[in-house]
Amino acid sequence: MDPVTDRIPQDILDALTDVEMPRLPPAPDLTEQMQLEGHDIPLHRAGCIIVGSGAAGLRAAVELNRRGGDVTVITQSAWGGTSACSGSDKQTLHTANTSDRGDDYKAMARAIRAGGAMDEDTAYVEAVGSPRAMASLQYLGLPLPQDALGGTLRYQTDHDEVGRATSCGPRTSRLMVKVLAQEAIRLGVPVFNHTVAIRILTDGDGAARRVVGLLAMQPKAQSEANPLGLVVFQCGALILAAGGPGELYRDSVFPNGCFGSLGMALEAGLDLVNLTESQFGIGTRREGFPWNLSGTYVQAIPHIYSLDDEGREHPFLGDYFRTTQEMASNIFRKGYQWPFHASRMLDFKSSLVDLAIFREGQKGRRVFMDFNRNPLPVPGDQPFDLSRLDADVSRYLGTAGAAQAQPIDRLRHMNPLAIELYRRYKVDIAADPLEFAVNNQHMNGGIAVDTWGRSNVSGIYAIGEAAGTHGATRPGGAALNAGQVFGTRVAEHVAASGAAVAPPDAGIAPVVAKALGTVTGLLNPDSPLSFRAVREEVQARMSDHAGIICTPDQVAAAHRAAKALCARIGREGLSYDRPGEIARALQWQQMALASQAVLAALDHYIAKGGGSRGARAICDPAGDALPRARSGALDAFRFRSETPADQGEQITVRMTEGALGIATRRNRPFDESAKAFFERDWPAWLTGAIHDLPTN
Ligand SMILES: Cc1cc2nc3c(=O)[nH]c(=O)nc-3n(C[C@H](O)[C@H](O)[C@H](O)COP(=O)(O)OP(=O)(O)OC[C@H]3O[C@@H](n4cnc5c(N)ncnc54)[C@H](O)[C@@H]3O)c2cc1C
Repeated sequence: MDPVTDRIPQDILDALTDVEMPRLPPAPDLTEQMQLEGHDIPLHRAGCIIVGSGAAGLRAAVELNRRGGDVTVITQSAWGGTSACSGSDKQTLHTANTSDRGDDYKAMARAIRAGGAMDEDTAYVEAVGSPRAMASLQYLGLPLPQDALGGTLRYQTDHDEVGRATSCGPRTSRLMVKVLAQEAIRLGVPVFNHTVAIRILTDGDGAARRVVGLLAMQPKAQSEANPLGLVVFQCGALILAAGGPGELYRDSVFPNGCFGSLGMALEAGLDLVNLTESQFGIGTRREGFPWNLSGTYVQAIPHIYSLDDEGREHPFLGDYFRTTQEMASNIFRKGYQWPFHASRMLDFKSSLVDLAIFREGQKGRRVFMDFNRNPLPVPGDQPFDLSRLDADVSRYLGTAGAAQAQPIDRLRHMNPLAIELYRRYKVDIAADPLEFAVNNQHMNGGIAVDTWGRSNVSGIYAIGEAAGTHGATRPGGAALNAGQVFGTRVAEHVAASGAAVAPPDAGIAPVVAKALGTVTGLLNPDSPLSFRAVREEVQARMSDHAGIICTPDQVAAAHRAAKALCARIGREGLSYDRPGEIARALQWQQMALASQAVLAALDHYIAKGGGSRGARAICDPAGDALPRARSGALDAFRFRSETPADQGEQITVRMTEGALGIATRRNRPFDESAKAFFERDWPAWLTGAIHDLPTN
């Protein structure tokens, strides 16, 4: 009997992997126009503009609309972005009960910020907000799994000791987008699809500076009267929910076309924070079907090997681990220790697997997982045997009933969706080996925000992966949870501020004219520098010098080169082949700036003695930590351990008059001993004082 159809009927598997998205109604007609310097630019006015229709942006849209806000969403691609197009078989959300004993928000907050460089109050906000985020998604129809008595099924994931994760299968985040989009459509929230934000418009100076709108492009709206396809969105509040900068790296498991808004934010004078912190791990690249190979993919313990130019196979992991048992057990552990972490390269732990794969890539070899073969033995050691695995691994596989002889059968038994998912993209892992690599997967840093999602410029908020709310590490599932919790918080705050009750009507022509001048200055069809050349240069530099392995010299040189590239773009402008590529060219100009900012922060961190943390090993011949392989010490990868003092602070980047300035600030604290007291604290809620709004 086929175990797939035996355990779960095919139609159920289909529904969890092929998630159809709702039809968007057409966006409202643009009836107002601005005439500026030969451009007839349509204008749309809204109380609040949200940039991005991922899980975070749609959450904010729904919550703000329900609070009476006049809200419009603009999006590069309605069902594009990371939430709608990526995921893993452990796409997760935080639940509020762990180890069958209930949970403690303070303990959960401690777990969320355990990697350091995270604001303690933010971690608490995410912890205390998680049950509401989850319950409201369930109310909207998200099929989170429950037991017969209504308890949410949950399990252990990365940086999570107690099991705070849950999942509705490989498409959890897409399902979240779906239920939120259905609600946004039901509420009549206008969505402008295929609309790319290119400049944030602000007015005023110093502390009085505030958002007045956004300059965007709709490539399809280009005409003789409006050659760039510009649209102005005027607003009283702006929520940036444009996701992470997935295009920053060549080796990436982000879906195609994820640019985020870091460059745009820098140009608007917003503070960015923790740009040094990202997540990297094994997955299939976006050139094919981008997917994390975590969870059961590796817990099935497939054979991992590389192929050289001549087609010769190399079972390279055998050069790193001392026994077949140690190697197989560490392949398994990548399931819940998925992100690379320098300290796990030591003592033959699971990140030695990532390092080994990374080194094969450096040698120009392609790396594969073969689910039809068990791992080959480490030279001189016994063959792979399910009865010779480390105790934690045996216990898990035993409980899961995964005693089948071949990895593909263990995978099919534990998670048939994992096989189905690749089949959807014409990759049959039951028949063929799967090519994969160590890829960039998540930006932990981003726009600096306070506990209400406010940036340093009045009226501008950031949520989801656009916001820099995570520290050096984050538990699996914390990204989606943060987007939902802060999506709700910003909506509450915008509503309380009154900024989005009605569309603003002040004239903003001078501000738009200034932004238009900057944009046209950057576009130069005759420039020898094309946006494609910029893409190649930026992605190669980031993957080769700012990935999991960094050295002080290489990062400093990469920083200098990134700065030179941005200066050249400023001098020569960017060329493109077709008018339809103008918005893309500007996104690459902003991505080059984002890359410069990441490298500036990293260079600063390393130069002041920063050690290995999060997903980066800072390799240094004077480092105190030396990873070893079976074949001997890996001297080239000697690295600096993390400096504990760095856990207490965060690095910020701000652009002023074209120059990037770096600073550090202490993490905001959270007083765990402080207790809410109903009669004392109720007035602050009733009067709205909790929102900390300016009083006039
Ligand atoms: C392979 C993979 C697996 C992951 N697994 C997990 C997991 O298991 N658990 C977890 O918590 N997180 C996971 N993450 C991270 C998580 O999925 C993302 O952080 C999250 O989905 C981001 O949501 P978002 O709404 O902020 O952004 P997105 O979903 O990326 O949405 C961004 C939106 O902004 C739009 N946009 C972008 N730029 C512009 C612009 N200039 N103008 C207009 N619109 C714009 C896009 O079209 C899109 O609609 C994973 C990520 C990847 C890549």
